[in-house]
Amino acid sequence: MTHASGTLYIVSAPSGAGKTSLVKALIDQVADLRVSVSHTTRPIRPGEVDGVNYHFTSREQFIEQVSAGDFLEHAEVFGNLYGTSQSTVERTLAEGYDLILEIDWQGAQQVRRALPLARSIFILPPSREALRERLTNRGQDEDSVIEGRMTQAIDEMSHYVEYDFLVINDDFHTALDDLKAIMRSGRLDIAHQQNRHTPLLTALLSE
Ligand code: GDP
Ligand code: ADP
Ligand code: 5GP
Repeated sequence: MTHASGTLYIVSAPSGAGKTSLVKALIDQVADLRVSVSHTTRPIRPGEVDGVNYHFTSREQFIEQVSAGDFLEHAEVFGNLYGTSQSTVERTLAEGYDLILEIDWQGAQQVRRALPLARSIFILPPSREALRERLTNRGQDEDSVIEGRMTQAIDEMSHYVEYDFLVINDDFHTALDDLKAIMRSGRLDIAHQQNRHTPLLTALLSE
């Protein structure tokens, strides 16, 4: 989304590629950028906080919210339901903030259909071995869950071509710089610059 409202960014990656770590660093370093907190039926992990990492919810409550039309998009990933609140997205963009959705490829397809001006970014790991190592080192999931996520990763990665931008998370800081460059270019488009520099443009172009 552009014009007076903020820009909506979709970020997808296979589990373990570093999406959450990169987005957290980005939010800390880029002004007026926020991340949407999704709803999920997945069990909470050690260290996660309800309302901060996710809004953790029951399957029944989630399905009620789907029926009520509360979600901009929702999808089932690894057997758990995930969804993005429509009203939070609308409000945050209307307030002028840029907003990141950390969602899977199924959600990305739904958001592109609803909001064609959204800009989408896919993050890939430098190798399959690195992906497995990161999933293991994170120490959050059991071996069987890691195996499942590795299998799904290949399926998720096959969707990278549907995205506007591709970032390889080999060196963390290089990948972070790539993401910052994408955000920065978004703020240089004509609609944003006209909004920001109205007095200058008026002065330069007056008779
Ligand atoms: P992690 O990505 O390995 O840390 O595991 P998570 O359980 O946090 O996320 C699993 C998957 O669900 C990832 O592919 C996320 O992109 C996806 N996901 C998270 N929130 C949402 C959401 O609101 N909507 C959709 N469609 N997918 C989501
Ligand atoms: P995702 O949200 O995509 O599942 P995380 O952000 O949880 O991924 O990252 C998975 C693990 O990989 C974490 O332990 C994180 O610290 C580590 N990690 C992230 N980026 C890199 C990188 N460039 N090099 C090495 N390890 C990384
Ligand atoms: P090449 O330019 O030969 O494709 O890549 C050189 C190195 O840069 C490789 O280690 C590769 O993983 C990394 N690389 C390639 N594209 C990107 C990118 O978009 N972002 C980051 N962070 N690294 C990249």
